Amino acid sequence: MKTFKSILEFQKHFDTDVKCRLFLEQQRWGDTPACCFCGSVNCTRIKEGKRFQCNEKECRKQFSVTVGTIYENTKIPLTKWFYATYILSNHSKGISSLQLASWLDVTQKTAWYLNHRIRKMLTENAPDLLEGIVEVDETYVGGKETNKHKSKRTVKAGAGGKTMVFGVVQRNGKVNTKVIPDTTTETLVGAVEENVAEGSIMVSDEHKSYLPLKKKYKHARINHSSGEYVRGAAHTNTIEGFWSLLKRQIVGIHHSVSPKHLQRYCNEATYRYNSRLITQDLRFANALANIEGKLPYSVLIKKPTTI
Ligand SMILES: [Zn+2]
Repeated sequence: MKTFKSILEFQKHFDTDVKCRLFLEQQRWGDTPACCFCGSVNCTRIKEGKRFQCNEKECRKQFSVTVGTIYENTKIPLTKWFYATYILSNHSKGISSLQLASWLDVTQKTAWYLNHRIRKMLTENAPDLLEGIVEVDETYVGGKETNKHKSKRTVKAGAGGKTMVFGVVQRNGKVNTKVIPDTTTETLVGAVEENVAEGSIMVSDEHKSYLPLKKKYKHARINHSSGEYVRGAAHTNTIEGFWSLLKRQIVGIHHSVSPKHLQRYCNEATYRYNSRLITQDLRFANALANIEGKLPYSVLIKKPTTI
């Protein structure tokens, strides 16, 4: 992919819908367009336009490159989608819908929708298992944060308006997050096993649910309630740092987040953290590689609750 020195250069390069579309076609199909309905490569472009005709007798459907992607049926020009995708995949803390609306010259409702759809692209597919020294922790998003460490105990999600998020981070490596329903051993140890290679060194706080970790991992516990925060390499500063990034993003940019959208916000923060060492252009390309899969407005606005 071409590299861009600046966002201005990016905008100049993708200044028409045709250019964006050709780029998407390359990204999705290479030089061999494939029918979005039956998968056949026996298809032809109609009159040099955006639509293709599938030539399979049983199919005969027409499609364009956006069919089956988050850009499907959009009335927003692809130039704006590209611009928004570039910004959101690169901005360290995300962008509020209000800010995005003014930059793209669209309504705030449209910007909110764009924000959510693009956030869906900012997901790592099949992340690698973490290994080496891995810090594990859980945090509450929303509600009051007072005495977090002292009050850590098994509570149901939604208690006191809080939603729980589980996180693991490899020292000098990647992070992964998951919205969890409770902090039982089953949930927390299960989440560790999903994300961390057996035999790794796990560092957690004193939460009792983590005790069984010692069966498959080397486990170091930090006793926060007795004021202990760092004991040599045994600390959870990395994951705490990630939590503060996540919370700054949610509180500072989005003000409040409903629990049902929280996993997407976590994915977005995770994606940014994990791609911190790659170039802006690559981040944009990686985001575009995830365009398949729709996220209709009706799904986004179903049963909204605010925390
Ligand atoms: Zn077909």
